[in-house]
Amino acid sequence: MHTRRAFVKSALGGAGLLSLTTLLQAHPTQAVEKRKIVVVGGHPDDPECGAGGTILLLVSAGHEVTLMYFTNGDEGIADKSHEEAAAIRKKECLEACKILGAKPLFVDQVDGESVVSNSEMARFQKLLWNEKPHVVFTHWPLDSHKDHQLASVLTMQAWMEASQSFALYFYEVCTGYQSFLFHPTDYVDISETQALKMKALACHASQNIIGKDGRYTPMMYACGQPAMEDFRGKELGVTFAEAFIRMTGRGMGTFAVPS
Ligand SMILES: [Zn+2]
Repeated sequence: MHTRRAFVKSALGGAGLLSLTTLLQAHPTQAVEKRKIVVVGGHPDDPECGAGGTILLLVSAGHEVTLMYFTNGDEGIADKSHEEAAAIRKKECLEACKILGAKPLFVDQVDGESVVSNSEMARFQKLLWNEKPHVVFTHWPLDSHKDHQLASVLTMQAWMEASQSFALYFYEVCTGYQSFLFHPTDYVDISETQALKMKALACHASQNIIGKDGRYTPMMYACGQPAMEDFRGKELGVTFAEAFIRMTGRGMGTFAVPS
């Protein structure tokens, strides 16, 4: 039975068991086994906001990270056309990725007009699978922005279609304003990388995330981003942290529903 075979393959593959602790573990004598990690975001700046500090730690631990931007943030600059805004924001992504040591990948859906269809699902999956990821991070689906929701749904579908051959984590953005009901299973101490994360966020100059003083802007305080990093840090007992929900449910998408 196809679904049964898929489960066995997944169970033997073992990649679904990769934990953040393992990925971030530095060993003094053993070389790190290089893993491929993809971070999916609805717009330019989302992967950086939700996981920028962790991305920096993963890259410095020797892993390869790709930021997969679902839309180009086409609606994100008030006085620019969709095309102009997309071009500016793609350039900002390249600059942010350079700081993070990550590779950008553009899905090229349109901000605010994103769709989930069978053909878009197939296109998204192909792009994601081409990366041969061991671990994928995506938006938490309970989010106030449709682009975030759809990016999350497409990632979950890709995870199930790939028989869970990669570990799946959800990240939060501006919890209480965009992400809702986010109860983390995993925390990463980003106290040492938070400053560089902010430099990567500053590359998204069109979005007014970081001010000229190098701090989060009042808009970001209103959205709750700094409070989120601070609060997750307090929960972990460090200065700043990022938090994640690890997907579990091994049978999900791999067994046929009994009739
Ligand atoms: Zn967004």
